[in-house]
Amino acid sequence: MTSERKTMETVPLEGTSPFELRVDLSKNVSESTVKKALETGDIGFLHSFTTGSAVDGPGIRLVAWTAGCQFRCLYCHNPDTWNMMNGMAVPLDRATSVLSKYGHGLKVMSGGFTLSGGEPLMQDRFVVRLMSATKAMGIHTALDTNGFLGERLSDAELEQIDLVLLDIKAWDSERHKHLTSKDVGPTLDFARRLSQQRRPVWLRYVLVPDLTDDENDIDQLAAFAAGLGNIERVDVLPFHQMGRSKWEKLGIDYTLSEVSPPAHELVERVCEQFRAQGLKAY
Ligand code: SF4
Repeated sequence: MTSERKTMETVPLEGTSPFELRVDLSKNVSESTVKKALETGDIGFLHSFTTGSAVDGPGIRLVAWTAGCQFRCLYCHNPDTWNMMNGMAVPLDRATSVLSKYGHGLKVMSGGFTLSGGEPLMQDRFVVRLMSATKAMGIHTALDTNGFLGERLSDAELEQIDLVLLDIKAWDSERHKHLTSKDVGPTLDFARRLSQQRRPVWLRYVLVPDLTDDENDIDQLAAFAAGLGNIERVDVLPFHQMGRSKWEKLGIDYTLSEVSPPAHELVERVCEQFRAQGLKAY
């Protein structure tokens, strides 16, 4: 066994937290291994695993956080996940073996497995193979994504994902670009496609005072979401400062250091805007 492979087989996976700063965990993985991993999905680059999550899909979840993201959200609480090489290289068969250990417990707790990030679809082949293997074990699968790379999944591959947690960061295209560095168009196209395919979706919206709380924008997003017909619920996620120290440690300019979490009244106002369109919002 090569030393590269040995590291992949022995790096500890379980019980870690996405709030732990992780850098350079794959710095010794060769370029050719990374290229092949992305083409085949034989290896995934994972930031961490969390057990017992109650907020990343129905029931109690095992969550794997992928490394690599093409967005640069101003409020990102895990900027160490932007770089895929910060994650640990995990062979697909090792990831599925971890899942099989938790399978029974996850089913008993009406939960399942959630792949989050970072942006999982940066590693779309790994996502498809891991989700397919998970579903074959009878475990509910959820994908938390910004949707920008949704076109990488075929219709048949989408069937392997029981629930999409779709993060729409902003409705207005200029605001979205300012907030994330990318266009909102591909995300909205993916939302429309999921609607056409009648795939279940939970919409996620991070609420930041003075950044993503524009009433008119939210009204338009809520109307769009309601028109899709497949949004089972909306999670309004209040901005928090738990990621600030990561920005500081990574030496990246953090522009939201003075921003407070939204007041309860603001969260309720935004939830009501979604509810006014007939959606369940929490
Ligand atoms: S999409 Fe998620 S991981 Fe990527 S920058 Fe935005 S908040 Fe961070």
